[in-house]
Amino acid sequence: MAFTLNSYPVVYRAKYTESGGWTEEFIEKPHKTPQEEAQLPKTEATALSDSRNFYNDMPLVNYTTQYGLGCFEGLKALPQKNGGFAIFRPGENGKRFHNSMKGLFMPPFPADIFVKAAVEMIRRNINLGFCPSYKAEWEKDSFMNADSIYIRPFSYSEGGIGVNISKEPWVIMIGTPVSAYFSGGSSDALVTDRIRATPKGTGWIKADSNYVIAALAKHEAVEQGYMECIFLDAVDRKYVEEGSSSNIFFYLKSGELITPELGDTILPGITRLSLMELARDRGVKVVERKIAIDEIFSEAKECFVSGTAAGAVPISSITHNGKKATFTFPGELSSELQKTLKGMQYGLIPDTKGWLTKI
Ligand SMILES: *Cc1c(COP(=O)(O)O)cnc(C)c1O
Repeated sequence: MAFTLNSYPVVYRAKYTESGGWTEEFIEKPHKTPQEEAQLPKTEATALSDSRNFYNDMPLVNYTTQYGLGCFEGLKALPQKNGGFAIFRPGENGKRFHNSMKGLFMPPFPADIFVKAAVEMIRRNINLGFCPSYKAEWEKDSFMNADSIYIRPFSYSEGGIGVNISKEPWVIMIGTPVSAYFSGGSSDALVTDRIRATPKGTGWIKADSNYVIAALAKHEAVEQGYMECIFLDAVDRKYVEEGSSSNIFFYLKSGELITPELGDTILPGITRLSLMELARDRGVKVVERKIAIDEIFSEAKECFVSGTAAGAVPISSITHNGKKATFTFPGELSSELQKTLKGMQYGLIPDTKGWLTKI
C-alpha cells in the first residue's frame, strides 16, 4: 500500500500552556538503522514501527479522541534531482494550520515555528538515514510512482470529558514515507448524496471531524468500483464542491478552467492554489465559481482532482444519479499541469516560484 503509516523515528512535539506559551521538543523514538530495519522479520518490523506511534505521557480521554476536536495538515518533503531535500510551500500549510486552530478556538500555532519545526524534524530523520533517495526512472512517467516523505502535523487536546474547546493542546509532527497515492485501477468518480460540509460549519478547516463523512462516502464509492467520491453543496444539492480529500477542477469546452469558489464549505487546497497559478502561466483562463453538476455533463471536457498526496489526478468519468459524464482521459491540461507541478517539486525543472524550502 502506498499510503501506510511507518513513522520515522524523530518526532516534533510542542505543547501550549496558558502560563508559558509554546514549548518545543524533538523526540527520538526507538529505532535501528534503516538497513537493519529492512532486514527484520515482518512481525518485529511492525512491532518496532508501532512502538514509534505510542506515547505514554499523553491523555487518552480528551476532546480530540472523544469529540473529534482537532485539526491536521499534510505536506511533503521531496528528494531533489540535484541532491538534498525540499519541502513544498510549507509556509502555506503553516498559515492554514494557524487558521484551522483559530477556527477551532485553540491557541493558534505560529506559522513560522511550523515551518522551522517541519524542516528540523525532517533534517533529523535524514541524518539518521531515514529518507528515500531520488531515482531518475521517476522522470519517465512524471513522478507518478515517485517516493517522498509525507509530513503530518496535527493538534491533540489536553485531557477532559465534557464537550469543550481545547485551551492547552499539543502540536505534533511526524514523517512517514509515501509513494503513489491513487495506485492504478479505477479513475472514475461517483457523486455521493452524503453531505460533507454545511454553511457555518467546519468544511473550510482541515478539521478531524470532517473526515468521518468523507471516509464513509469514499468507502461506499470504492466498494462500487470507483476511485473517488464527489460531494455536492448542502443547500441547493447541485453545485460540485470537492472530493473526499481533494479539490476539483473542470476544463470546459470553452477553454476555461473552473474550480469551485472557496467559502466556508470547501477546503482551501495548496495544490489547488498552485495549479491555478500554473494554469494561468500557460495562458489558460482560470475561474473560481460555483459549477452545477448539470453543467459538467454538457460542458466539461476534462476533470481532475488535486491534493498534496497525488498532485493533479485525472478523472475519467463522473456518475450522478445513474448517468455517467465522461472526459478526455488523461486530459492534456491535467497531464501538463501534473508534469510541471511534479517537475518543480522534485527539482527536475527550476523552481521559478520560490515554492521549495530547502532542508
Ligand atoms: C487536504 C485537503 C485538500 C487538498 O489540500 P492540499 O493542500 O492541496 O493538500 C482538499 N480537500 C480536502 C477536503 C482536504 O482535506
